[in-house]
Amino acid sequence: FKVPAVENEPMRQYAPGSAERQGLEAALAQMHKELPFEVPCIVNGKSIKTGNVAKQPMPADHANHICTYHEADQATVSSAIDGALAAKTEWEAMPWNDRAAIFLRAADLVSGKYRYKLLASTMLGQGKNIWQAEIDAAAELADFFRFGVKFVEELYQQQPVKNSPGVWNRVEYRPLEGFVLAVSPFNFTAIGGNLPGAPALVGNVVVWKPSPMATYSNYLVYKILEEAGLPHGVIQFVPGPPAEVVAQAIGHPSFASLHFTGSTFVFKKLWKDIANNLDTYKGYPRIVGETGGKNFHIVHSSAEVNNAVLQAVRGAFEYQGQKCSALSRLYVSSSLWKNGFKDKLLQEVAKIKVGSHLDFGNFMGPVIGKPAFDKILGYIAKAKDAGGEVLIGGTGDDSKGYFIQPTVILSKDPKSITFVEEIFGPVLSVYVYEDADYEKTLELIDTTTSYGLTGAIFASDRKALLLATNKLRNAAGNVYYNEKCTGAVVGQQPFGGGRASGTNDKAGSISIFYRFVSARSIKENF
Ligand code: GLU
Repeated sequence: FKVPAVENEPMRQYAPGSAERQGLEAALAQMHKELPFEVPCIVNGKSIKTGNVAKQPMPADHANHICTYHEADQATVSSAIDGALAAKTEWEAMPWNDRAAIFLRAADLVSGKYRYKLLASTMLGQGKNIWQAEIDAAAELADFFRFGVKFVEELYQQQPVKNSPGVWNRVEYRPLEGFVLAVSPFNFTAIGGNLPGAPALVGNVVVWKPSPMATYSNYLVYKILEEAGLPHGVIQFVPGPPAEVVAQAIGHPSFASLHFTGSTFVFKKLWKDIANNLDTYKGYPRIVGETGGKNFHIVHSSAEVNNAVLQAVRGAFEYQGQKCSALSRLYVSSSLWKNGFKDKLLQEVAKIKVGSHLDFGNFMGPVIGKPAFDKILGYIAKAKDAGGEVLIGGTGDDSKGYFIQPTVILSKDPKSITFVEEIFGPVLSVYVYEDADYEKTLELIDTTTSYGLTGAIFASDRKALLLATNKLRNAAGNVYYNEKCTGAVVGQQPFGGGRASGTNDKAGSISIFYRFVSARSIKENF
C-alpha cells in the first residue's frame, strides 16, 4: 500500500460570527466552567493518581489554574519504563500500515473533533492567542502526525541500489533497543505531540515527561493518540518533578534515546548525565535536542522598509517572543533607520494590544509564568544599565496575569547582554550599523552568541543576500529571505539549528526519523 499525498492542515480564519468562531468560543466557555481539571499519570493505559499534586496556573489569570496534576513518583516511573518495554514487542511487530493508520486518525481527530478543545487548552494554559493556538495546536500538530507518516514511508523505501546476481540486499529500519525518553516544552502543544509521536511512529516505546506549564493540553494530546488506537504502554504519560523523572529514566539500563526540546543549560546537563551512565547502557543513546536561540534579522540598505518592519514586529512579538525561533537581535542599515524604519517600527509596536486571549483583538498575551516575567524584566533592566535606550515598552504588570509590553531597546554596544543571551520574551534589541559596514556586521552577527537557530536577511540586492548567506553559514539552521525568522511549516521548512541551539536533526522532515531507527542490512543469497 502507499500513503496518499498529504497536505498541510488548512488554517481556519475565525471571522466574527462564523461557525468556527462560535465553536471555539463555546469550547473556551465550557473549559472555563469545568476547570480546574485533574490530570493523572497514564501508565499502560491506566490513570494513576499518585497524590503528589501540583498545579498548572493560567498565565493570564494566575489566581486560577487550569489543572492539578499528579506528579509521577519513583514507583510510577519504574512501572512506566517496565510497561513500555513490555509493550515494545507487539508494537514493533505491528504492521507499518496499522501504525500509520493510528497517526493519520490522530491527525483527523486533531483537525476535527478535538480542534477547539485543543485550542482552548493551549490558550488558557499556555497563554496563546487564537491565531497562535491555531498555528500550533491545530495545524502543526496535525501536520506532524500526517507528514510523519509520509516521511516514514519514504524512509522505509531507502534501500541499497545494487544487488549482485543471486543476491538480494535489503535494509530493515528497526526501532531502537530500549525506550525513548521525550521531554517536551511549554511553548508548542504540537512539539508535545511530536517528541513522543515521532519515535513511536517508527516502532519505539516512549516515556513522555511533558512540561509542567503545558500539562493539560499535552494530556489531551495523549488522549487523542489513545482514542486513535495507540496501544497502551507505547507512550507513557508521566508529568512530574522534571529533574527526578528525567534522572530516573536516564539512569535506567534500557534508556536508548533522548528526544528533547527545552533550554540549552538543561540539555547540556542531560548530555553529561547520559555520558556518565554510558557503561550501563546496551548501546550509545541517540540524543536529539532542540534548545535555545538568539535569532537575528539583518536589514540591508536595499531592503523594502515596510516589509522589514512588519516582519520584525511579527518575528519578535508573536507569542510574546516565547519561540526558540523568535527574533531578538535586529541589525538595521543606518540610512534606512533614519529614513523611516525607526518611525515605522515604533508606530507598529505602539499599535500592539497586550491582554488576555479572551479578547481576540489582543496581539500579545501573557508570558508563561512568574520566573519568566521576572527574568525578562531583569534583562530589560540589565540592558538599561549597560547603556541601552528603551525606545518603547520596558514595563510589565503581573497583578492578574504576566503581561509585559513589547519592548524595543536600541544599543550602541552590539555585544551587550541582550544581544548575547536568550531572553525568551518580548524584547527586541536593535543595533544600527553604517551602510558601508554590512560585511563587518555579518561577522558581528556570527560571533556575538553561541546559538545558531534562525535568521533572516532583508535585501532586494541579490548580492547582499548571497554574501549574508555565505558569511552566516553556521549562524542559523533556518534562514529566511525577506521574511521573519519564525513560523517554519512541517514539510516545507525542516526546522532546527546547530551550535548551542541543538543537534539540527530537523523536525518536520524525514531527517528526524533516521535518529530513532537502527538499520539492519540483510544480504540474502538465492
Ligand atoms: N518551529 C517554530 C518556528 O519555526 C519554533 C519552535 C520552537 O519555538 O521550538 O517558529
